[in-house]
Amino acid sequence: MKNSTSNWNWICFDCRITVRRSWTYKNDVPCPRCQKNCVHFGTEIALPPAADLRAWRKIRRTFQESRADSVEHAKWQRVRRQHRLEWELVELEKSPASGKRDRRIAHVRVSLGVA
Ligand SMILES: [Zn+2]
Repeated sequence: MKNSTSNWNWICFDCRITVRRSWTYKNDVPCPRCQKNCVHFGTEIALPPAADLRAWRKIRRTFQESRADSVEHAKWQRVRRQHRLEWELVELEKSPASGKRDRRIAHVRVSLGVA
């Protein structure tokens, strides 16, 4: 018997269509109506009827906002990591010279793109 939780939803917001594929599916999922790529939308969602435009607009807005949040979060994490590496480099350069220290400095410089 097919397990429905092994399927994920892809959505075309323009056509208000859901396409289900196995969670292992790796390719783009074209909308069966407009052929544009659907967006991946997870497993546990209750979608409104296609005619409920207001509800669909709300889902689309929420989706776009959550996507923007995750882009901002990734940016913030990169900045945070960079600051941590810069701080580590300053501390390493203050510490007594050793092979281990020099290798770590070289590694941190490569990570910072200043090697
Ligand atoms: Zn479509």
